[in-house]
Amino acid sequence: MTRYRDFHRRSIDAPAEFWRAEATRIHWETPFHTVLDASRPPFTRWFVGGRTNLCHNALDRHLATRGQQDALVSVSTETGIERRFTYAELYDEVNRMAAVMRSLGVARGERVLIYLPMIPEAVFAVLACARLGAIHSVVFGGFAAASLAARIDDAKPALIVTADAGARGGKVIDYTPLVDEALARAEHKTARVLLIDRQLAPERLSASYLVAYEPLREQYFNAHVPCEWLESNESSYVLYTSGTTGRPKGVQRDVGGYAVALAASMEYIFEGRAGDTMFTASDIGWVVGHSYIIYAPLIAGLTTVLYEGTPVRPDGGIWWRLVEQHKINLMFTSPTALRVLKKQDPALMKAADLSSLRALFLAGEPLDEPTAAWIQDALGKPVVDNYWQTETGWPIIAIQRGVEALPPKLGSPGVPVYGYNLAIRDAGSGERCGPGEKGVVTLGYPLPPGCMTTVWGDDKRFVDTYWSEMAGEPVYSTFDWGIQDDDGYVSILGRTDDVINVASHRFGTREIEEALSSHAAVAEVAVVGVADAVKGQVPLAFVVLRDAQAAAAPDDRSKLEAALLATVDRYLGAVGRPARVHFVAMLPKTRSGKLLRRAIAALAEGRDPGDLPTIEDPAALQILRSVLEGG
Ligand code: AMP
Repeated sequence: MTRYRDFHRRSIDAPAEFWRAEATRIHWETPFHTVLDASRPPFTRWFVGGRTNLCHNALDRHLATRGQQDALVSVSTETGIERRFTYAELYDEVNRMAAVMRSLGVARGERVLIYLPMIPEAVFAVLACARLGAIHSVVFGGFAAASLAARIDDAKPALIVTADAGARGGKVIDYTPLVDEALARAEHKTARVLLIDRQLAPERLSASYLVAYEPLREQYFNAHVPCEWLESNESSYVLYTSGTTGRPKGVQRDVGGYAVALAASMEYIFEGRAGDTMFTASDIGWVVGHSYIIYAPLIAGLTTVLYEGTPVRPDGGIWWRLVEQHKINLMFTSPTALRVLKKQDPALMKAADLSSLRALFLAGEPLDEPTAAWIQDALGKPVVDNYWQTETGWPIIAIQRGVEALPPKLGSPGVPVYGYNLAIRDAGSGERCGPGEKGVVTLGYPLPPGCMTTVWGDDKRFVDTYWSEMAGEPVYSTFDWGIQDDDGYVSILGRTDDVINVASHRFGTREIEEALSSHAAVAEVAVVGVADAVKGQVPLAFVVLRDAQAAAAPDDRSKLEAALLATVDRYLGAVGRPARVHFVAMLPKTRSGKLLRRAIAALAEGRDPGDLPTIEDPAALQILRSVLEGG
């Protein structure tokens, strides 16, 4: 462990020295004059004065040496289309997209909202923004109109880029009606919507603001758009994530620190080398997609595989066949996807030649021991669990095989990553916990490069949400419970707040509650996350109706349940849909009116809710019990 320990210690004791050396991994148009500015805690500025560009580092820099190497391989098992782009071709496409965006008024510092399925144009759009110095905000295609509208109002984009449709599991999902509805709901009026027409959905280009991409791409076919050299601490993107309120937070990221952190992570954590092929089966709408589908592999000179589809169509062997066909060296997915694959015929995995694969990375949710043991055994390659958050942009806890290949321990993603001054602290006193003691996973100031710089447009929210003073120092809370053992391995024990994790997708229970409350029949609602064998957790809703009689008959009940679920689909998107809606006469609350969510979750999971001295009316628990027993 010495090598890892020394490496980690150096990164904490002398961060400026440590990161100065790492910064040589990227191109700086103008060198920085200060590595670390920690003069205004909890804010941090990395590589102050340096000017660089993420698109230059992802593309231009590689043209001379690997122009003819594939940069992007896009596979859609939904449309059956495969498209490949060398670095030179991707560079051309990104320049075209940048020229089109520029012609539509996109300039440095302006926001572009990207609402696209997993198609190459999504990568073009992200990199085109980076090239122009515009700030992208990618919204996951599974989100529906109200979620989209909230993000439009917060980011105030100059342009929205969308497509006619996405596709999942053989079902076409029309995007333009959702964008139409979102724009009608939003107060901010976005002047233009750039449309990528995949010809999947019928013509719905009714709205006057829609601009077709294809003719403009032709017009700017030979365009070259110079990179805007941004100061390292300017913003590269805003990515919304759920918290405990119904209002998502815009996680804001810098340019230089992010590029350096990702480049370093490719060596120390992912062991990805230029020329390798990496398949990250996530979505560009999530942070894993931003970092490990788009930026990190390209910055490091790899070929990245973009995949539209599910892991089980046309059959459960598709991902393993992709490994064989594209000689994939590194694969990155979520435990939920593995639990789905585990149910497939083992022959499908055995049939594929997986010799190119060096390691499988997993993140986004806790990795349960049976799944970990299964995949380790079935694959016979290193399986590297890694723990992080949208806020940090890259792993916080992992076995850093590029530093030292420490033995993995089941139930733990590993040890703190260099740069992160991780401590498990008592939730009340803020004191450090001893080995084996449960506490909150916290990070010391300053956070390493690549982490969020603030909440978009709301410094106060950044400070108030994440930071508190513990033992006289500013401390960042991850909102996760954890335990660290004698060897420094950390286990993650779930969230301290009301955020739930459904198939690696993060939701605030408040968001789902707000969606349900928008239905006229609903008086009160509580949403909790309960354990699920495949998705990790699923949301379960408990609703008190304005008119209790409305759900008296079983038929009425199921109609109302369907109507409420449809409301969630429309408001938030089907990804946030509760597994069930239970109708109850009252909800357990404290005497001051706070919902006792943990007690509700415990009952729903068949556990004892424990002592509840502050409960207003214990009868509420009995009501829940009988409803749950009744199915
Ligand atoms: P997100 O910001 O959507 O990536 O969600 C981050 C949250 O997912 C973390 O705060 C954890 O609760 C959970 N999480 C992510 N990765 C892991 C992991 N490897 N093990 C356990 N929990 C994880």
